[in-house]
Amino acid sequence: MEALNPFWSTTMTTAPVAEAALDAAALVARLRTTFRSGRTKPLAWRLDQLRALRALLTEQSEEFLAALHSDLGKGPTEAYRTEVAFTVNEIDHTLAHLEEWLRPKPAGVPEAFRPAEARVVRDPLGVVLVIAPWNYPLQLALAPLVGALAAGNAAVVKPSELAPATSAAIARLLPRYLDPAAVAVVEGAVPETTALLAQRFDHVFYTGNGAVGRIVMAAAAKHLTPVTLELGGKSPVLVDPGADLAVTAQRIVRGKFLNAGQTCVAPDYVLAVGDTAAALEAELAAAVRAAHGEDPAADPEYGRIVNERHFDRLTGLLGEGRLVTGGEQDRAGRYLAPTVLADVSPEAPVMQEEIFGPILPVLAVPDLDAAIAFVNEREKPLALYAFTESEQTKQRLAEETSSGALVFGLPVSHLAVPELPFGGVGESGMGRYHGEYSIDTFSHLKAVLDKPLG
Ligand code: NAD
Repeated sequence: MEALNPFWSTTMTTAPVAEAALDAAALVARLRTTFRSGRTKPLAWRLDQLRALRALLTEQSEEFLAALHSDLGKGPTEAYRTEVAFTVNEIDHTLAHLEEWLRPKPAGVPEAFRPAEARVVRDPLGVVLVIAPWNYPLQLALAPLVGALAAGNAAVVKPSELAPATSAAIARLLPRYLDPAAVAVVEGAVPETTALLAQRFDHVFYTGNGAVGRIVMAAAAKHLTPVTLELGGKSPVLVDPGADLAVTAQRIVRGKFLNAGQTCVAPDYVLAVGDTAAALEAELAAAVRAAHGEDPAADPEYGRIVNERHFDRLTGLLGEGRLVTGGEQDRAGRYLAPTVLADVSPEAPVMQEEIFGPILPVLAVPDLDAAIAFVNEREKPLALYAFTESEQTKQRLAEETSSGALVFGLPVSHLAVPELPFGGVGESGMGRYHGEYSIDTFSHLKAVLDKPLG
């Protein structure tokens, strides 16, 4: 399984070790001392930390936008919206509701035990580790931290070495805002992450690919530490006959080519049901032009591929199927145009792995039964998208498929709805977060029963 995973290669294990060797044991011991002192538990401390994190994002947004541009060519509007504002919204939602979420939840008591009182209390876990990936390197390091701090934990954040400018900005700026006794940033690659994972944490929250997810889970198992694994996979888009194809194409393009397709919940491929494929292809090409212009390389909001290894991986996936639009590339600039492929065989390399880049294959399937079978024969996706006017189709998809999320009409949008849990199922991950779900992830739900002695 590991050999098939495009995100992991043995070269990653030879990444350079940081100059100053990390004393992970001492770091975790220090944070544990803080946690045991009770410093992180009061609501006031948690709210202070969340406000400080908010200030970090708003006051230093220019620094972060510059770093995101350097790492991924992210345009300022997209980077602000998907990294800075997204995380600020998560903080604001948490600030508005935290007191209510932390209130003990009364529980019923069976007749035989009465009089007695029962409640559920959300207890902080202790010291938690957040390991972040490179594709949304700010959001995916800090949004989990919102939950960790709101739930009253001490935390270590390990940003991705593949987004080095953002990682450096987080490491430099975060300690200026957050309580240094309770929050630490460790930069580094495999050796540093391995050193951290050898320690006993109370929760490990990992976002990234499934091959490393297995390494994380195996390391955590040695300490019986629970994990959240936010992974990826191929998220399909079903397009039903009768859907407005212009609107459909516009919304698929917006979700797919965000961050040059390097989004965990990006539409991975399209299943065009019935006779929709030909008309949809034309609409997709038009929607790419409308969103990114005749020359997307000149669009300041169109991103770049993170590194040459991923560029080579992606260009290696072209060459099968019929090119509808795109295909232009520049290795030195890590530019790959928004690309739509048609007549793609399910056996083609582009259909064997998560694409995680700006290539959109369109496959025709005869009917809804075939589309559902296609989805169910593969790993459970992080998201399943559908464009349909049929309530019956929606109901069948809800009942007959399994995915991290099921979204009709607007791909990628669900993760910005803070009252929805965000997470995968099966190969796309385990656990969930955002909003109140983050509090549950980073807390122990402690049962309290109080029976009077009288
Ligand atoms: P990555 O290469 O940045 O790796 C993620 C983290 O794992 C990094 O911090 C890295 O240092 C660490 N790491 C790498 N190798 C390791 C090892 N051998 N031992 C311990 N730690 C190690 O990111 P990636 O995995 O390329 O990210 C892309 C994948 O992440 C895609 O599959 C994507 O779908 C998924 N993803 C999921 C979500 C989500 O929220 N579900 C979000 C973003 C990305």
